[in-house]
Amino acid sequence: MVSPDAVLQLELDTRHRQNRYRRRKTLQSPQGVEVLVNGKRCLGFSSNDYLGLANHPALIKSFQQAANQYGVGSGASHLVSGHGAEHQALEEELAAFTGRPRALLFSTGYMANVGVIRALMGQGDLVVQDRLNHASLLDGGFLCRAQFERYPHADLAAAQSLLANNSAERRLLVTDGVFSMDGDLADLPALAATADQNNAWLMVDDAHGFGVLGKTGRGIAEHFAMDIDSLPILVGTLGKGFGTFGAFVAGSEALIESLIQFARTYIYTTALPPAVAAATRTALTLIDSESWRREKLQTLIAHFQQGAAERGVAVMASPTPIQPVLIGDDQQVIKIGELLLEAGFWTGAIRPPTVPVGSARLRITLTAEHETEHVDALLDALAGALKSVGGT
Ligand SMILES: *Cc1c(COP(=O)(O)O)cnc(C)c1O
Repeated sequence: MVSPDAVLQLELDTRHRQNRYRRRKTLQSPQGVEVLVNGKRCLGFSSNDYLGLANHPALIKSFQQAANQYGVGSGASHLVSGHGAEHQALEEELAAFTGRPRALLFSTGYMANVGVIRALMGQGDLVVQDRLNHASLLDGGFLCRAQFERYPHADLAAAQSLLANNSAERRLLVTDGVFSMDGDLADLPALAATADQNNAWLMVDDAHGFGVLGKTGRGIAEHFAMDIDSLPILVGTLGKGFGTFGAFVAGSEALIESLIQFARTYIYTTALPPAVAAATRTALTLIDSESWRREKLQTLIAHFQQGAAERGVAVMASPTPIQPVLIGDDQQVIKIGELLLEAGFWTGAIRPPTVPVGSARLRITLTAEHETEHVDALLDALAGALKSVGGT
């Protein structure tokens, strides 16, 4: 018999040859503008902590106080005995924040997406998704046993035709609000119209929009002024703009009660630590009271795009803090990422299968804590790195 290691090693070797081998770097500081990574001090441009709340003193204080009061572990799932006062309060505040009757906490966004799709859809139903949706949404589509169809990114006509040419009674149209590796927005008003015309429910995952989009940070629903009727199933994650950890679904009473009854990733998992919920409640108040963080991001995004154009660096058209630079070749993106790290800048080198083959990219993310000088320094280093590998 061939040992598991021998078989696995062959696959690992293949991954290596494809330049798709992934290695973790060790972060030895909090997330922030200045980070310590693998022993080297550099400027961080790779986290999803868009508002700069992950290491905010007010969140730390709430976290510490709640740990003193409730301990560390929640001790059980929400349905057994792990649903605490902090979780309950946060759910009520998230419902108010999103303008929906109810909200339900999940332990991660991955679990929220898989759990919602599996709870709502099954054999004989139809799930239609954008090809570039987050892996957790796609996995939900595969796992739910419904017919699962994907349309090319942002291709509304294709979405329309997949729905129109199918007779399944129960249909779900699913999209990211902000696409996580491209930074562009879904055309939600058009998708909502398509869903409506074809008798489908619309589910939106706004992991990267909450806290960032909309005048008051209510995300893509606020950006497009969409109420619960046009957007009945709204998912948010807490590990990005909120600066903490976990996720939630917001919607009607019937939706949330159905998830409590039927979402397996909700039922069969331990509730978040109460202190995480407490820190998230503080993040919610800062999203409201510190609108300068959103405004600062807009300034930085404009500065980045203008500075890139001035230096002849082609960036993808993105109105969000996710500012990808398309490189294409897997080996080149690794090289550029390494050059930038040597120069003191930590960016994300993203390769397939996270993005489609041939579209490897640097994923640069901005946060409200960056200054325009940081952006200028990054762009200078980036222009230099691109030149030295012979890219554009
Ligand atoms: C990060 C992300 C998730 C997963 O959320 P986690 O809480 O990290 O599991 C889901 N959807 C999108 C669009 C994301 O970017």
